[in-house]
Amino acid sequence: MNHSEQLFAQAAQFIPGGVNSPVRAFKAVGGTPIFLQSAKGARITDVDGKDYIDYVQSWGPMILGHSHPDVIAAVVDAVQSGLTFGAPTERETQLAEIVCKRMPGIDLVRFVNSGTEATMSAIRLARAHTERDTIVKFEGCYHGHSDSLLIKAGSGALTLGVPSSPGVPKALAEHTVTLNYNNSEQVRQFFAEKGDQVACIIIEPVAGNMNCIPPVPGFLQTLREVCDESGSVLIFDEVMTGFRVSATGAQGHYQVQPDLTTLGKVVGGGMPVGAFGGKREIMEKVAPAGPVYQAGTLSGNPVAMAAGIATLELLEAPDFYPELFRKTQKLVTGLQAAADTAGVAFTTNHIGSMFGGFFTQEKTVTNYQQVMACDTERFNRFFHGMLKAGVYLAPASYEAGFMSQAHTDNDIEQTIAAAQKVFASLKD
Ligand code: PLP
Repeated sequence: MNHSEQLFAQAAQFIPGGVNSPVRAFKAVGGTPIFLQSAKGARITDVDGKDYIDYVQSWGPMILGHSHPDVIAAVVDAVQSGLTFGAPTERETQLAEIVCKRMPGIDLVRFVNSGTEATMSAIRLARAHTERDTIVKFEGCYHGHSDSLLIKAGSGALTLGVPSSPGVPKALAEHTVTLNYNNSEQVRQFFAEKGDQVACIIIEPVAGNMNCIPPVPGFLQTLREVCDESGSVLIFDEVMTGFRVSATGAQGHYQVQPDLTTLGKVVGGGMPVGAFGGKREIMEKVAPAGPVYQAGTLSGNPVAMAAGIATLELLEAPDFYPELFRKTQKLVTGLQAAADTAGVAFTTNHIGSMFGGFFTQEKTVTNYQQVMACDTERFNRFFHGMLKAGVYLAPASYEAGFMSQAHTDNDIEQTIAAAQKVFASLKD
């Protein structure tokens, strides 16, 4: 037994499944999760002393790479003044100002402690604003684990949702409709019938929780149009895409402005932060400015705000995004070439610094059904081969990968070289 295996066995005695978030347990890929000791730049080190090039980046926040000295210094500086006050601090306004100035769709913003809280609160606000109950989401999108959002599609398109976890009341699920991602026609049909009942559409403007699926041209514009026609609120869940697919998020990249936006991950620079924001007239309904209740003992925590400010300031360097995107392109092109050379059916998607690879014969992958039809057994062998070779990918085939500023060309070349060998071993 190595040290990770020992620690996992111990953890399972006290923590359900040995982890504090399910996907960490390696259930999808099999085997034992590696327990991490430390992380610096593009690399993570496990408790057995092995190094890996990391494309998970704590599931997205670490866009600068791990332990960036400026972020660490900002956090240490904040810690010296106290961990939490439960009273306003200047740093909250500083981070709020940066967010409002960068995100085209945000006039006012409220900080919370996670992406889940952000989406849950945005939905309450949308329901209050429209005085309607129905929410529309898309199959394959993940918006955190609040009850209203842990709902999957019913048996046919346009039917009522069904809970995707025990414990979610059926009565609540009936208010959530799940449609097909990238299917504008279905959206239009649904809104033609029931648009006047819809409080909001919530969507990942680039889906990153069913691998990486960008929106097809016109899809986000369709959502904007049907929301305008029906008086529904359009919510972009940019917890993953915010500050990652462009300096101005997916909304800036695709030039579609939502009414509300949710943020998380990068905005907290590695500390537990989420945020929801949007049009002034809607956000002014949030307490205490308005009647929609939302609160948090640790919200706007000064240490977390310091990490967020330091991170977002560093993203302003003029070559930050072009360089990040160049490296993503280089990685994805190299992986595709390695698979092609090995004769393994494989397709990639990428946008900004998010990427995904699919074990499929299909040349383009744009929807959930295609993702579900991919060869997961092959992915699992690929994952373990790469792990052995020192490359840490997300331990499930339904996750996007992330590039950071800290990844060097050398890291990427090493990754591609490892992939060449692993792809070759996948040909049965
Ligand atoms: N929304 C999206 C798009 C996410 O990717 C996630 C988490 O991965 C969430 C919401 C939930 O965020 P958190 O895990 O911080 O609650």
